Amino acid sequence: MVPTFGCNTLYPRGRLPRTVGAFDVAAHREALRTIREAGLDGCEFSHYEHLPPADQEKLRGVCACLGLRPWSAHSWEALPAEPAHVEGTLPGLFSSLEGAARLGVRVLVVHAASAAPQAYPQRAAALATCLGTLAPRAEAVGITIAVENCAHRQDLEFLAETLERLDLPAIGFNIDTGHAVLGGMTPDDAIRIMGKRLATTHLQDNFGQRDDHLPPGRGSIAWEPVRDALRQVGYTGMLMVEISDCPPEREPQPVLDTRAAADFLKTLFGVSLGRSPA
Ligand SMILES: [Zn+2]
Repeated sequence: MVPTFGCNTLYPRGRLPRTVGAFDVAAHREALRTIREAGLDGCEFSHYEHLPPADQEKLRGVCACLGLRPWSAHSWEALPAEPAHVEGTLPGLFSSLEGAARLGVRVLVVHAASAAPQAYPQRAAALATCLGTLAPRAEAVGITIAVENCAHRQDLEFLAETLERLDLPAIGFNIDTGHAVLGGMTPDDAIRIMGKRLATTHLQDNFGQRDDHLPPGRGSIAWEPVRDALRQVGYTGMLMVEISDCPPEREPQPVLDTRAAADFLKTLFGVSLGRSPA
């Protein structure tokens, strides 16, 4: 099976302004064209939640015109860690899911609020209620909810045990390679903990100090073990890159970064670039 590759939508006009709505349909159109022109197959929507429903539908059409597969969307609402927070969180998660369905993606990435290990029993109860409510809705629209690793190994092991116990087919994992390193793991270790529940990826690099979201290959992550672990757990979904809109230490360069990520990963996986190298 030939692997497919994607990148998240990067604001195309310099540093993303803080004003809500700056990343409008026109900016998305440019961002999606950048991804396509880098020779990639699909995309993740990182900034879709402020768009009205009609605009979310439009982006699905833009992808179709470009021949780009809408693969994933990133929710801005985190899964709750306390039972008392479930009710307040669900409307936002439903809204993320509805937006993701309008975009036509297969995966909705979510973060999970963390908790101290002594509060894990309550956290498990909150996740059981929340994910148990979300799963049938996700399944109905053909979307898998992918929980991202945002913390240390113990946190990920807790999430893996929780998902195993719940055993909901519409709930899986997203491996964020940069977060794995900052959480004291190698990304390949984290991938093996997620195992067959791995539903998507955030491939991004750093130097073990900050969450840089650099294109893969630009930091100190060892990528061959990452590739081997993805193969080992039988991951066949899109190899999605998540790089930063607003790198704190340098000017945003969406075209160059997207191309660098595309070329590095295709070379790593032994796939032809499909265009001249960056
Ligand atoms: Zn991520």
